[in-house]
This record gives sequence, C-alpha cells and structure tokens, in this order.
Amino acid sequence: MHSTLIKDSFGREFKTLRVSLTSLCNMACVYCVTPGVVQTENKQTVLTTAEYLSIIKKIHEQVGLKTIRLTGGEPLLFNEISTLIKGIVELGITDIKLTTNGLRLSAMLDDLVDAGLRSVNISLDALDPTVFRSITKVHNIRLVLDAIENAIAKGLEVKINTVVLRGVNDHQIIPLFEYASSRNISIRFLELMKMGYLHYNETDHFYGMDEIVEKISSVTTIAKMERAGSNTATYWQTSKGMVFGIIANESEPFCSDCNRLRLDSLGKIYGCISAAEGIDVKTSADAFLTEALETALAQKQDHFTGSEISMKYIGG
Ligand code: SAM
Repeated sequence: MHSTLIKDSFGREFKTLRVSLTSLCNMACVYCVTPGVVQTENKQTVLTTAEYLSIIKKIHEQVGLKTIRLTGGEPLLFNEISTLIKGIVELGITDIKLTTNGLRLSAMLDDLVDAGLRSVNISLDALDPTVFRSITKVHNIRLVLDAIENAIAKGLEVKINTVVLRGVNDHQIIPLFEYASSRNISIRFLELMKMGYLHYNETDHFYGMDEIVEKISSVTTIAKMERAGSNTATYWQTSKGMVFGIIANESEPFCSDCNRLRLDSLGKIYGCISAAEGIDVKTSADAFLTEALETALAQKQDHFTGSEISMKYIGG
C-alpha cells in the first residue's frame, strides 16, 4: 500500500531513489576526490544487501518508487550488485539503472543484465588517453571504451556522462559528441558542481551550458527539445536526429520538479543533493520512516547550492 501524502507544497514527491552502494571508487577524478586524500571506507558500517533491500522495500511501500539508480562511489565495487538488482526486481521495481565509470563493467555485464539491469550511464570525460588519465588518475581508457561497446552490443540503453572542465577537457566536447553520434547513443555534458572540496574553493574550470551549446552549434544545426518533467538533463537534437543533453545545475537548475531521493552506503537518506546532512534510516525504528521522508522532502531547494559532501558519498 503506497502512501501519497509525502508531497511538498510544490507538488514534489519521491519517485526515483539513487543509491550510493559504496563511497569507494577505483578512479580518483579531480572534481570528486579531494587531492592527496586516501579513499577509505569503514566496512563495518556499510549496508549489506539485505539491509539495502529492507530500506528500499520500506521506502517503496511509503512512496511507490518508479526508478532506482545504483551509483556511488563506484557501484561495481559492491560485489553483490547483481543479487541486489534481483532483489529490487522482486520488490516490484523494474526500472533499474546504473551509473558507472565502466572499468569493471564488461566482466560483470552478463550477470547484471540477467539480474534485470536495462540502462547504464557510463562516465567518460575524454577520448584522449592523456586527458582521461589527468582527470581520472587511471591509465586504462580502453576498459571504458570496451565497456561502452559491450553494453551497446548487449542491448542496454547506454548514455555517456561527461563533466566539462575549462582548460582541461573542453577541447574533447566535439570528439566525444561525434563518438556518441557514431554509436547512436546519447551523451550528456555536466556542468561542474560545487560538491565536496570544491564547495568552498573558487574554480576557474567551470564551463557553462551556453558555451557547450555554442561549441556543438559550430559543427551541426541543433534545436532545443522540451525538457521532460523531473529530468536532470535538457536535450538538444541535431538535424540528423542525434540527441545530446546538458546537466546544467548552475545555469538552468531543475529543482522545481525534482523527484529524487538519495540513500548512502551508511543508511542515510537525503532529499536534496545540496543537503548538508543525511537522515539515518538504518537504525531508526520503522515508525519513524514517514517522518524521515518528510524531513528529507523538506530539504529540497529551489536552486542548486552544492554541499561539502562529495558526490562519491551522496551518489552522483
Ligand atoms: N563512479 C561512477 C561514475 O563514475 O559514473 C558513479 C559515481 S560518480 C560520483 C557519478 C557522476 O558524478 C559521474 O559522471 C561524475 O563525473 C559525476 N561527478 C562527480 N563529481 C562531480 C562534480 N563535482 N560536478 C559534476 N559532476 C560530478
């Protein structure tokens, strides 16, 4: 029985749950990991598959979730991810998506698809191996490119996510756009978000939506599409039918119809990516979940402000 009462005065409710399965990552992207800080996680407190399923079930009973996106950190470092996906399907939620850096994807693809995965966003910030390495601190871009090919061949819906950094990979926008076009998949360019250590640090690497649009317009004719409700990206279509998106938290905030709730690997929920802290639903009694969801909904804002919490904790 789903409650429909958890809705704010703007009509916002939770329909999509993003789960950060681990804050650990096998990349160390410059905008996500504080430079010089070693990544660690206290394994004792991280949720087990059974705990994830129990929390997701309770949230689903309250709000009637439509979509679950598994993310992180790097979600493919959570070894039981396929078991978790099967469990989520058994709860009656079939729209299960994954956001990954792709490093481990090819090896896990069959199991993930057998479990019920249908859609994957793969992060790729550059095609040039040197630029890729300078951002991710990882050498093997081939693994990511192979993962994209294998996921397409397996019949998954595949999208590419690219964070654009001025002076670092802005010259990769057109090669990446052409790469995605040649594979008939969509690519979304992300504006840099003031999350984690970037929150209080001025950065001159920000590259905005208008500049991305201008750059792509220089090689093809494009038309802006109407944004579908609660989508993170605004999309453009080229005259040849290729679609690309921009996730413009700064230039074009999309808070007004946001339906996302986040759950981190410690069992805390967040109603907004800019929330300063999460609400513990791991140890709180079941009776408090409605209250926790209402508190989370009240965290929603009207424009993106960012937070000290890095994406790898809260789930990008
Ligand atoms: N490890 C997975 C991956 O790389 O896709 C999932 C987690 S990662 C945090 C999810 C997405 O968040 C990636 O596309 C990453 O580029 C993006 N991201 C992380 N920090 C960001 C920031 N400060 N601004 C914009 N995007 C960011």
